[in-house]
Amino acid sequence: PRIPLMAGNWKMNLDWKQGQALVEDLGDALKGLDSSKAEAAILPPFVDLRTVQTVVDAGKLPISFGAQDISEHEEGAYTGEISGQMLAALGCTYAAVGHSERRQYHGETEQVTNAKVKAALKNGIVPILCVGEGLEDRKAGKQVATSLAQVEGGLEGLSAAEVEKTVIAYEPVWAIGTGEVATPDDAQEVCSAIRDWIRAAHGDSAADSVRVLYGGSVKSSNVAELMEKPDVDGALVGGASLKADEFAKIVRFQD
Ligand code: 13P
Repeated sequence: PRIPLMAGNWKMNLDWKQGQALVEDLGDALKGLDSSKAEAAILPPFVDLRTVQTVVDAGKLPISFGAQDISEHEEGAYTGEISGQMLAALGCTYAAVGHSERRQYHGETEQVTNAKVKAALKNGIVPILCVGEGLEDRKAGKQVATSLAQVEGGLEGLSAAEVEKTVIAYEPVWAIGTGEVATPDDAQEVCSAIRDWIRAAHGDSAADSVRVLYGGSVKSSNVAELMEKPDVDGALVGGASLKADEFAKIVRFQD
């Protein structure tokens, strides 16, 4: 069975001191979390990662962490980039790849996203590949086709064993930061299509292992109904991950 993954994407919020306070509070709020019921993960800004690692390790907190992005390059003259090697050295479990904000505001192409997925895997980091349609595609009924094209592009050239290690996050762009959450049925439609695509392309083992998350205006008040859907294996949470109590409620959606 797939253990639900609740990942908090802090985006460009919280400096290292604020991040430290939030992780400490989150550690308190998640005390005694049954790790077979849910996994909590956070994706802080790069400059907070060392602090987060220190707090998590010192308190043995039940919180995984990772980065919001990763360089496609291994090392060298790439000013401003952060490599998979550096993230692995900080104990990162995850790296988000191809978030719609990276695609929209930083011109990330399918090819770049694919290279970043590979860079993560090469360094033992689980890529959280983000996909999802914009409002126009949704209105045209193209949500499945658009999302699957991004899955296919992002996973291009990977073996079934590599695909098995990835996490996919379905985040419809129109639902991100808008308060307009997809209905559970909308989330299920695309999440199940993603799993079907993985099954056809990479077999049962990969399809049954990959966690497919939903993201876009997830809150403690709507997470449970989304999680009832068989192909929704967790959530990628933005705004609601910036408050310890609220995010802990999301992680403990089964309580
Ligand atoms: P919100 O939860 O703020 O809508 O953001 C979703 C998201 O983009 C997570 O990566």
